[in-house]
Amino acid sequence: MSFEALWESLLPVGRDGASGGYRRFSWTPEDAACRAWFTQTAAERGLRVLTDRNGNLWAWWDPPGALPRESAAGGPAAPARTGAVVTGSHLDSVPDGGAFDGPLGVVSAFAALDLLRERGCLPVRPLGVAAFTEEEGARFGVACLGSRLLAGAIDPGTARALADAAGITLAEAMAVAGHDPEAIGPDDDLLATVGAYVELHIEQGRALADLDAAIGIGEQIWPHGRWRLGFTGRPDHAGTAVLADRHDPMLPFAAAVLAARQAAASHGALATVGKVAAEPGAVNAVSARVTAWLDARGPDEETLQAVVGEVLAAAREAAASHGVELAAEPESATPAVRFDPGLREALASSLAARDIRAPVLPTGAGHDAGVLAARLPTAMLFVRNPTGVSHSPAEHAEPADCAAGVQALAAVLADLACR
Ligand SMILES: [Zn+2]
Repeated sequence: MSFEALWESLLPVGRDGASGGYRRFSWTPEDAACRAWFTQTAAERGLRVLTDRNGNLWAWWDPPGALPRESAAGGPAAPARTGAVVTGSHLDSVPDGGAFDGPLGVVSAFAALDLLRERGCLPVRPLGVAAFTEEEGARFGVACLGSRLLAGAIDPGTARALADAAGITLAEAMAVAGHDPEAIGPDDDLLATVGAYVELHIEQGRALADLDAAIGIGEQIWPHGRWRLGFTGRPDHAGTAVLADRHDPMLPFAAAVLAARQAAASHGALATVGKVAAEPGAVNAVSARVTAWLDARGPDEETLQAVVGEVLAAAREAAASHGVELAAEPESATPAVRFDPGLREALASSLAARDIRAPVLPTGAGHDAGVLAARLPTAMLFVRNPTGVSHSPAEHAEPADCAAGVQALAAVLADLACR
């Protein structure tokens, strides 16, 4: 099937009519529809589908003659041989996210397998397509939750207790969706079967556009993290409380937002406050509490810590001057990731052999390939995003570039997994 037809078949799922953006949050009906799409797409290709204990989806093209074996736990069949080559990405979205972030990698993976079949490729090792759960952390606050659980990078009990904005825990949400939350946790048997993971993703910047290249190869992921800043003041009447008497948590919050911008600019880093909640949220009242989330990323750990240190210092100083209490908690931290140099070289030579120009790029965005890099060789391919806009309905890749991405991925997979 063509990339376009596959793309069109997923496009309506979870799209919000008003914003045109996507709301594909894990363990919701929209997520179930994405999972059904994945399962059907895999089944149409005769691929063996399994959902791992953490809810990540896998579709396997086994080499001819290989018999799937049952896993020791009697769970779904694991691939018959080690050294599997896996590609894929994620299907969940941020609130009102774009169509490409995640799905481009999964759709391109199926399209690349179709190309390999058309060309008569015979895999000598299992070829897998994966879709990882809750990559964006949009519902439960921890990015790459599915791959973190798989790789043992988050405690299962901590993960089960994560709650969404409505107070529903991950455990409850998984149970409602028919998935056993007690089963979540590291899956070394599954990971041991995978020899390489190559994730194709839309670029979330415009470096490729500036370099006039359709395809790029990932070099490293900047270290990044999320911090929750809770400002607690004193609720009061907007019409009667005189300014001097107020303990308004909105003011140190505002100082923190400005400090984030200034610290990021002065260090060549990125810092963003994209989520904030004011309580009780009345127009005519001084807030009791303001909770804000800081997302910070930098080219190295030292720079990142310097940025966050400056933001927190400014927030503390402003909070003190307004008689407001500040509680700052790190919510997640992801160290710098350097993708496997050997696998990156393999990608570069596969593409060079087909005259596909692919510059090597760093990225400030986290990915499952970054989490999995701690456990196995991983690499990334990026597809040009003309405006660089991402996590927005305006996110876009041209059809010709998507096609180039499929060709590049197929070239890489052919060299890694086919005779
Ligand atoms: Zn993504």
